[in-house]
Amino acid sequence: MRIVIKVGTSTLAHSTGMLNIRRVEQLCKVLSDLKNAGNEIVLVSSGAIGMGVGKLGMRERPTDMPGKQAAAAVGQCELMYIYDKLFSEYHHTVAQLLLTGSDIENEQRRKNFHNTLFRLLELGALPILNENDTIATEEIVIGDNDTLAAIVAESVRADLLVLLSDIDGLYTADPHADTDAKLISRVEAITPEILALAGESGSCLGTGGMATKLRAAQRVNAAGIDMVIANGADPDILYQIVEGAPAGTRFIGRR
Ligand code: GLU
Repeated sequence: MRIVIKVGTSTLAHSTGMLNIRRVEQLCKVLSDLKNAGNEIVLVSSGAIGMGVGKLGMRERPTDMPGKQAAAAVGQCELMYIYDKLFSEYHHTVAQLLLTGSDIENEQRRKNFHNTLFRLLELGALPILNENDTIATEEIVIGDNDTLAAIVAESVRADLLVLLSDIDGLYTADPHADTDAKLISRVEAITPEILALAGESGSCLGTGGMATKLRAAQRVNAAGIDMVIANGADPDILYQIVEGAPAGTRFIGRR
């Protein structure tokens, strides 16, 4: 299977912005194992800004553009250093691709990015993508990595997109506010009722939230790709997801 996996900042870092070492080590181990089993893996990783915040000792995520960009420049480096180190332990080679909205919109640049991505997969490398936060200003921003992951899944014609987040999946109500909220394990069609279940963005270091995830599901489902939202707290959940066992919320692609 060709699988695109997106990890959010809340999965990779503690709320301080510092690396969640146990979690990231486990994630790299599971992804390496899935690759060893013959799957092709593309990782879309957030965390550049969050880790930059931690590494620069900032008290909170900056709100101004140069502040965010400076944090991303530091954090992206840190992120790739860690991925390179951990995946190398399992003899996997990582590659970094940083994109902006104009790389997707411009036909020539999109083609260049596709060619690179496909060649990396042929070469057995593990592509790791993020938005190029150091230059993506409002006009050219993709905006969030749920959307980026959906674009990538579509363009590599993935079999599956997995969004790992700090929530177990889509609930019938906000689980933080309503104790009766139930996890929805399978969504066959993204109806207006389903869209209405998206609340606000929950984490203080990342962007996105349920709304961007549901839009990502709409996009890939229309292209015939299944998408799963699951909790990244225990990366072992990826084994169940890849086997098709119930885990998180699975949005079924149109066949
Ligand atoms: N590109 C951002 C980062 O790496 C994250 C965007 C997102 O969380 O969706 O910090």
